[in-house]
Amino acid sequence: MRQIREIMARAAGAQERLDEFVRVLASNMLADVCSVYLERSNGDMELCATEGLAAKAVHRTRLRPGEGVVGQVALKAEPLNVEDAPNHPAFSFQAETEEQGIVSFLGVPILRGGRLLGVLTIQNRTKRVYDDEDTETLQTAAMVLAEIVVAPELAAGGEVFDSIALRPTGEERLEGRGVADGLAVGRAVKHEPHVPPALLLAEDPDAEAVRLEAAIKRLRESIEALLEGRGSAIEGDSREILETYRMIAHDKGWLARLQDAVRLGLSAEGAVERVRNEQRAKLLSARDPYLRERLHDLEDLANRLLRHLGEARGYTFAAEETPEDAILFARTIGPAELLEQDLDRIRGVVLEEGSSTSHAAIVARALGIPVVGRIEGVLDRVEAGDLVIVDGAAGVVHLRPTTDAMETHQQRIEQRGERAAVFERLKDRPAVTVDGRSITLLLNAGLTVDLAQLDRTGAEGIGLFRTEFQFMIAEKLPRQGEQRTLYAAVLDSAGDRPVTFRTLDLGGDKILPYLQMDREENPAMGWRALRLALDRPALLRTQLRALIIAASGRELRVMFPFVTTAAEFSAAKARLIGELDWVARRGHEPPTKLEVGAMIETPAIAFEIDALLETADFVSVGANDLMQFFFAVDRSSPRLSDRYDILSPPALKFLKLVREGCARADKPVSVCGEVAGRPLEAMALIGLGFDRLSMPAAGVGPVKRLVLGLNARRVEAAMGELLESREPSVRGALQALAEEMGAPL
Ligand code: PEP
Ligand code: MG
Repeated sequence: MRQIREIMARAAGAQERLDEFVRVLASNMLADVCSVYLERSNGDMELCATEGLAAKAVHRTRLRPGEGVVGQVALKAEPLNVEDAPNHPAFSFQAETEEQGIVSFLGVPILRGGRLLGVLTIQNRTKRVYDDEDTETLQTAAMVLAEIVVAPELAAGGEVFDSIALRPTGEERLEGRGVADGLAVGRAVKHEPHVPPALLLAEDPDAEAVRLEAAIKRLRESIEALLEGRGSAIEGDSREILETYRMIAHDKGWLARLQDAVRLGLSAEGAVERVRNEQRAKLLSARDPYLRERLHDLEDLANRLLRHLGEARGYTFAAEETPEDAILFARTIGPAELLEQDLDRIRGVVLEEGSSTSHAAIVARALGIPVVGRIEGVLDRVEAGDLVIVDGAAGVVHLRPTTDAMETHQQRIEQRGERAAVFERLKDRPAVTVDGRSITLLLNAGLTVDLAQLDRTGAEGIGLFRTEFQFMIAEKLPRQGEQRTLYAAVLDSAGDRPVTFRTLDLGGDKILPYLQMDREENPAMGWRALRLALDRPALLRTQLRALIIAASGRELRVMFPFVTTAAEFSAAKARLIGELDWVARRGHEPPTKLEVGAMIETPAIAFEIDALLETADFVSVGANDLMQFFFAVDRSSPRLSDRYDILSPPALKFLKLVREGCARADKPVSVCGEVAGRPLEAMALIGLGFDRLSMPAAGVGPVKRLVLGLNARRVEAAMGELLESREPSVRGALQALAEEMGAPL
């Protein structure tokens, strides 16, 4: 390994390095032959360097996958140890190599990041039984070789290497699911600890063994601390995963493989990387979902171990250097991890898993970073530095795009830029229809990063501030002081513009690992939002106090989520009033004005709206949840997402009923939820008489542009007829109307 390290350190040409590598390895392993085969772009294995076979065969001998014993190693990505190769069923004689009389064969795959780069072999003229130690040594050498092979010098190693697939080549168009809208072009970066080649090999194996042991000990301790330190707070899936981690961290096989690798000359980091590589290669061929899950666990654990090792060295295994225009690739990413990134450099995110309801997706949307999820195996098809296009709207990723694809996308990016410029010009114009109806456009927000959007979009206030985001991003329950700081910052940046704070909407798909919640069959209809808050008085109390104190001397608008009965709302409001007294007794100046509202998210409360509005000052229609329950369709199910249309007579009639209830009581009503930010849907809502719409930042510009071209009275009149239509959707009719009026959608 020392000699190999020297080869790596020496600045030499690609071929020279490979030649020297096989020479050193052959002599150290007492082999008559040592050869390196590398994969060509068509999948063939090409002999690229040899000690012992005829030199003229180099760059000439090529084997198809599965052809010969070398092809077998490549096909299965597993070591193959054959005492008598010429009699092996797969044996294929290559005359130009002059390999007559060579009988024993040991071959191992050259893997990097789970991807097969080639095959490394040793052979002997006499019958020789290679033992496990030989295989281990060869695998270790293959891992180091992989680093030599992908080094830029080899990639630029001259014509003979041109067709060698050292990195994935060629354009690939991969379809996943759009998780956060947007379009970006950039360079791939992998979000996983990466061991630089210089740290792979050890100076002193004994010292490395000690480092490895210490890191494993710390790893185990940290898992125990997670499992026990927080009491029984971790439940359900999180606990199950941690318990699996604990099991693996004590698994003898896993530890033995790590220790063996260190014994053979790798650094502790190198050992972890090697074992991780092999696991990845297995993962690629595993079909069984349970096995895949376990292999993922192993990988996560290896990453943790690398971080522990790095800490001890005072080294951070950051993802490979983050370029200015990074596209981040990860299996999955948490919201906190995403926020930890150098966000000025991240242009897009590609995930092997991930769904649009994931918390990271919500954060990415707030940051305006496009995300495409559910592209299995993408980490193995991309190399750091590859050019990538991420199309969050279409849910498509282009790896190594051709010039044509780049041009098309560049045009689309420019078109988007032009559109953004149009919206920017509309920013300060009031949203008033052609016939003089004023529409209030508000923002949905939840993170401090959203606040800048108020000025950027020209929204008139925040119609929905999702307070649970702060809780979802935190490692532990935010204290009253932390909550207060956030709320005060929101009010500060809103200035005169109104802000409606929604109290915690936890449960459903918004799970906090640190809060004990039982697993439910139907979490969306379970113990969530206001139900949970009413049952957990301390949680609600803390938040209400934080809100009241933050709004001291200013106006406070509080809204309760997921109200199902008027009585629930009254109970919640009573708590708020009670806390108002408590805060006043503590000497804080009270808010100048208090408005308390309810979200209409369940059909039940829509039919009790008169009673509700006797005590509520305003309501907001949470159309995401309301439609989920109206149509009985899971809002996070991608299969059903296009099945029912809010622009259908029954749904629109239902919304009208809510609007009329509010008109009877003369109380303001808004619509929040994603639909309010879509021009056509917004038009329908305006036609139903809604004049307050709260939406994601990206919706404000397009909706304002529409409003400016709309004749509200005409839309209202048309809606009257459309509500009686027998069509399953009135989308087409509304579109035609918008066109007739010249209102841009
Ligand atoms: C809704 O349900 O429409 C809503 C705005 O709340 P959330 O999307 O946070 O559930
Ligand atoms: Mg909701």
